[in-house]
Amino acid sequence: MIITIDGPAGSGKSTAARKLAAHLEIPYLDTGAMYRAIAHLALEEGVSIDDHDALVQLAESADLWLDCGPTHTRVKANGHDISEAIRTMAVSQVTSPIARIPEIRRILVEKQRSIGRQLGSFVTEGRDQGSVVFKDLADVRFVVDADLEKRAERRYQELIADGEDVSMDDVRENLNTRDANDCKQWAPLLEPGQSIKIDTTNMSLSEVVDCLECHVRESVGA
Ligand code: C5P
Repeated sequence: MIITIDGPAGSGKSTAARKLAAHLEIPYLDTGAMYRAIAHLALEEGVSIDDHDALVQLAESADLWLDCGPTHTRVKANGHDISEAIRTMAVSQVTSPIARIPEIRRILVEKQRSIGRQLGSFVTEGRDQGSVVFKDLADVRFVVDADLEKRAERRYQELIADGEDVSMDDVRENLNTRDANDCKQWAPLLEPGQSIKIDTTNMSLSEVVDCLECHVRESVGA
């Protein structure tokens, strides 16, 4: 069974996807972690985000490894565990411009499909999972969204909990920029009828997860 959760940054899709996977006891594929890994490598190796050729070369040669557990994701690049390092604001800021480079998307989409084939059943989230990457394979497709203020608040709380020194204004600004960048590169939105849309603005995490799980069980008749 393949379940896709598409949506913008901060919509709550990552946490909800992880929890849903845990409830269903199937792996969780975190595709944002893969784009973040390339951004982290670029920062580490001093590659400019304007140098597309060097970035594509970096992505082509990167030995990315993901451990997709139902309750955890570990990411290694070139043998180093970067699971925590990819979550900083510095990495968030350069990830979306890098994710707009078509060749980098092609490399990572191929990798996502290959991981998907190995996993068989899984929950995946990103912005293009139901509409592009697993378009023909997904059994249940969700699109989750929330208003900007709510998304910024959630992301701010996560970063503060991780010990980052950020202000709410920085986070709001970062999400705004990411929205603008991501929209330019957004996969075509799923048409009504192709996906189940959920506005999470006024929902708690457990309500979102219950709602997703309920739809999945309905769809598979469980
Ligand atoms: O989900 P997360 O915040 O980790 O994603 C980081 C960034 O990676 C997104 O803002 C987006 O620019 C990019 N991304 C993408 N396609 C995906 C997942 C993430 O372009 N499937």
